[in-house]
Parts: sequence; structure tokens; C-alpha cells
Amino acid sequence: MLAVPRVTGAPVLNALRRPYSNVAPTTKLFIDGKFQESQATQWIDLHNPATNEVVTRVPQSTKAEMDAAVQSAKNAFQSWKHSTVLTRQQLMLKLQAVIRRDIKKLAANITLEQGKTLADAEGDVMRGLQVVEHTCAAGSLLLGETLQNIAKDMDCTSYKLPLGVTAGICPFNFPAMIPLWMFPMALVTGNASIIKPSERDPGATMLIMELLNEVGCPPGLVNVIHGSRDAVNFICENPDIKAISFVGSDQAGKYIYEKGCANGKRVQSNMGAKNHAVVLPDANKEATIDQLCGAAFGAAGQRCMAISVAVLVGEAQNWIPDIVARAKKLNVSAGHEPGTDVGPVISPAAKQRILKLVESGIKEGAKCPLDGRNITVAKYPNGNFVGPTILTDVKPSYECYKEEIFGPVLSIVSADTLEQAIEIINANPYGNGTAIFTTNGSSARQFVNEIDVGQVGVNVPIPVPLPMFSFTGSRGSFWGDLHFYGKQGLNFYTQTKTVTSLWRKGQVVSKSSVSMPVH
Ligand code: NAD
Repeated sequence: MLAVPRVTGAPVLNALRRPYSNVAPTTKLFIDGKFQESQATQWIDLHNPATNEVVTRVPQSTKAEMDAAVQSAKNAFQSWKHSTVLTRQQLMLKLQAVIRRDIKKLAANITLEQGKTLADAEGDVMRGLQVVEHTCAAGSLLLGETLQNIAKDMDCTSYKLPLGVTAGICPFNFPAMIPLWMFPMALVTGNASIIKPSERDPGATMLIMELLNEVGCPPGLVNVIHGSRDAVNFICENPDIKAISFVGSDQAGKYIYEKGCANGKRVQSNMGAKNHAVVLPDANKEATIDQLCGAAFGAAGQRCMAISVAVLVGEAQNWIPDIVARAKKLNVSAGHEPGTDVGPVISPAAKQRILKLVESGIKEGAKCPLDGRNITVAKYPNGNFVGPTILTDVKPSYECYKEEIFGPVLSIVSADTLEQAIEIINANPYGNGTAIFTTNGSSARQFVNEIDVGQVGVNVPIPVPLPMFSFTGSRGSFWGDLHFYGKQGLNFYTQTKTVTSLWRKGQVVSKSSVSMPVH
């Protein structure tokens, strides 16, 4: 086999360079309903985060391949836009059944490529599947509005119509859920879709494409291209792509939002987060500590809705030893090993970044009663493991507080009162999620009313809304107008056409009226 030049992603220390493979299997493109070998000259090695062995090589799609994907989507859209709502609904009904059937297979792929535990990977699929299930009610969801007799003999109706070819750009941390937030909503509203999965774990998307073929999805309705910045630029610049759904980091999200909007596209951009949980001393201690540890260290902290900061109010500051004790019990190992609670982080570079931020916190004055930086997992000596880590006495001016760490690190901040806790959270630029733990209804109500964050949990640590609602992160965590899934997602993928009709019997006009009609 020919040697293929290596593409380096984010700067990686030389010492951390992993073996490059030109023999590992390749990830295919999915264009016009067919899996195709890419003609790319540049490839990205994808490593199992638990072992750093190469799992597959992901192509940087060529311009010709990406053009073919858009052309295929354009062609498919021409007939799909006329499809009946029942046809679209039936496609989704069939799709949800096969995703549910294959949930373990999808989860195994996610664990292999992304590292999270098998149980957590099933949750990843399940949260996406719930969106597919929701789209099965398209007949009701797509109802427009109508009003009879808005003037004499005149009626008005509005329709929700598709946009055309839409695109989705996905992050690494939810390889099934995020693509499933995107293309099912696009399809059920009558659009075609181009998906660019994360180059770090496209496998789940590819398995879902096999399922689309199995259920008879018309070729070209969904196409998958691979790559990184060039593929993203292609999507932002292509005039046939009308809307972009993005989920990922701030840097990429702001770039894509600005570039996409400048090219006249709709963009919804879900970005980074710093989610705070406020713990009042009247909270149920055991349940709260359980929830905190699950939300901080689950998925190795690589969730946009992970709790990364606990704000302990008053007497709750005495709970730190109990939080540490609970976190210590979590088992760190490869995601497929039974009993694992915390898997590896995505890459050696991500691990180094996490370690650096923890170190900077300690240097700036934080204490570290639980330090997972030097953890070793005997069976997986080459994995990107970071054990649960707790930093206390963290101040909002510290680097480790300002940056999204995206690892299994819980920063603890102290506050004297609920008002002070609310002030701290509202001063943070992000607005993805937050939670309060309390048994006092009026404190909870005050928090809900005064907090400036788009998704709020009351005794619920990860308040990700189900798909009858929308995912409503706010402020620095979201750029755009219409959020993902739910009613807002439907509106994102549709444009409104309003039809005004006059049907009058025996109309006799003696002279044309030239005034503005007011009905
Ligand atoms: P990322 O931004 O590195 O990658 C996301 C996508 O953008 C990928 O497809 C990648 O190819 C592309 N990309 C990356 N850098 C780019 C650049 N400079 N220019 C153009 N395109 C680029 O994000 P990630 O590391 O895969 O995901 C983790 C991030 O995603 C975290 O910040 C997390 O908070 C965020 N996230 C947010 C949500 C949410 O709903 N708010 C959900 C999941 C993840």
C-alpha cells in the first residue's frame, strides 16, 4: 500500500506522537447512498483513546468528493421536497426501530473510537434516538396556521417548507446523539442533509448510514463527508447549502457562525460551557453528592452539560471531604471494561491540556484534595487516562475557572449566600446549563428566576431537555436564533410561506384601485 502523508491536528508534543498507520482500515465516504473509498491524499489517524492504537484512517475529503455530495443532496431534494408527510414520518419510524435494535453495536463503536463507557455510549445513542422518535409525529409538528375570512372572501394559510440542502458539523463527544439532532430533523421537514462527523470518531455516523440504507432512505438525502478545516470551509462557502447546524468548541463555532452568516446561510451554533451547580446546605446531602460526582466525572467530564464547577454555599462547604470520598470510589479504566466509571479522554493532547489547567489552578492558589493527574491503569498503560480531580478554593480569576477544562475535573468555589452564588454564575460568559440542589422551594424559585442560563436543573444535575422542548443553551454557549430540536429545531429547518387567497363570486370591477390594499 502507498504511504500516505500524515496530517497533524492540534499541536501535539513530539513525545506524544502516536504511531502513524498506512495499513489500518479506512473510513468511507457516504455519497448518493453508497459507501465510497476516498481519493484523499491526506488522512487523519483515529486512535482508540484507551490504547492509542490506530483504529481507522479518516480522509480529508477532496473538493470533487464534497461537490459530489452536495450535487447528490440537491438531486435528492428535488423529489423529497414533494414527499408526503406520511412518507417522511414512515422513514423515521423505520429508522428509530433499527437504531433501537442496534444500540449495543453503535455503543461498542462509540466506546472504541471515543472512549466513553459502554453504558454511557448507550445513553449517547438513546438521547439521539429520542429525537428520531419525536420526528415520527411530523404530521402534527409541521402543521402551519390558517385563518378564514381575514377580509371578505379572503383566507390566509402559512406552510412550513424545507430550505433545500442543509449541513451538520459535529463534535467528538457525542458521536451518535449530535448527528441525530441534525439530519432526522432536516429530513422530516423535507430537506436533504450533508453531515461532517468529527474526524475523531465518525464510526457511529457511518453505522447509522448503513441503517438509513437498510430502511430504504432515498439515495442522496443524507451524505457524509469527512475532514477538518477544509471540509468546514467548503460547507460555509458552498452556495447550495442553505443552513448549518454546528456543535463544538467556541473557536470553531464562532468562525463557522460568522463565515456561514456572511455567506447568507442560517447557522445555529452550540458551543462551549462552564456549568455550575449551586449546593445549598439544606440539600439532600447523599443524593446531591452522588449527582455532583456523576455529572462532573461521567464521560470523563467530556460533556457540554457536565458540571465543572460546584458552588458550595455556607455550611455546604463542609461537604468537601465527602465529595472527595465519593469521587475516589469511581473506577478509571477502558470504557469497555465492566465496572468502569471513567474512561480515557479523547487524545494525549486533550490529556496534556487538562493536566496543564489543573497545574495552573494549583499554582494560582487552588488546593487539590483529589489529584487524578498521575493515575495509571495497569491493563492500559498507553491510554489517555485522567482520574477524577477536585480543585477547591478556586477563584473566578483563575485560568482553570475561565477555561472550559473538558476533563474529569471539578472546581469548587465557595459562596456565603445564594445571591452571591447567582452573581458568580451570571458573571460567567457561558450559559449552557446550571443546577441548584436544595429542599427549599423558594430558594429554588429564586434561582430559576434570577439565573441567566438557558438550561436550569432543580435537583437535576444535567438538565438536557427532551426533544419536545429544545436544547436552549444561552449567552456564550450559543450563537444563533433557533435552537436544536423541538419546535425551534423545526423552525430552523423550515421557511414559512404565507398564502393569501381571494375567491369571490361574480366580482365586477369598474375601475382599478391603486391604493395599498388593506383587505
Ligand atoms: P471542535 O470545535 O474541535 O470540533 C467540532 C467540529 O468543528 C469538528 O467537526 C471539527 O472538524 C470542526 N473544527 C474544529 N476546529 C475547527 C476550526 N478551527 N475551524 C473549522 N472547523 C473546525 O469541538 P470538539 O473538541 O470536537 O468538541 C468539544 C466541544 O464541543 C466542547 O467545547 C463542548 O463544550 C462542545 N459541545 C457543545 C455542545 C452544546 O450543545 N453546547 C454539545 C457538545 C459539545
